[in-house]
Amino acid sequence: MARLEIILGDITRQDVDAIVNAANCSLLGGGGVDGAIHRAAGPELLAECRRLHGCETGKAKITGGYRLPARHVIHTPGPVWHGGGYGEEELLRSCYRSCLELASENGCETVDFPSISTGVYRFPLDKASRIAVGTILDYLEEHPEIRRVRMVCFDERTKAWYDRALEELT
Ligand code: ADP
Repeated sequence: MARLEIILGDITRQDVDAIVNAANCSLLGGGGVDGAIHRAAGPELLAECRRLHGCETGKAKITGGYRLPARHVIHTPGPVWHGGGYGEEELLRSCYRSCLELASENGCETVDFPSISTGVYRFPLDKASRIAVGTILDYLEEHPEIRRVRMVCFDERTKAWYDRALEELT
């Protein structure tokens, strides 16, 4: 049974050990998936995030899930796409790796990711999907403690790119 799955869905509805939030460096909420997660989790999430004093792009921090079905939220600010010459690809790889490391350290066996950076941050989906799938597959190979990872895609077009990347890389 493959341990990486691509699904279509709303990440705020997933009953897993941890969902990942495509956050910004303030960790104080925003639009897109970040706004949806904060709305669904309730004000207690923002209160905990305030105590974290932000996060650098490519790194990650973990909080509780509060009113979400998920037990934890792992917040990671993805890179804004500026054409590819500013370390964007390495930073995106670092987002996925940092989140998975935090999941391992916190005993999270099931982890769901949104498509980091491919919304308002404009990272091209062809590149982002290959980086995400490649980084997750590499991590899973070395870390049996993570039982299952899913990419939760919010629309069919996004899902098609991740499906293609998974097919290419397995
Ligand atoms: P970024 O700023 O990192 O680009 P966005 O939130 O703008 O983050 O977009 C990242 C991806 O998350 C996009 O594919 C967007 O469609 C998707 N998204 C938005 N809301 C949800 C949700 N509730 N569940 C899963 N994915 C979502």
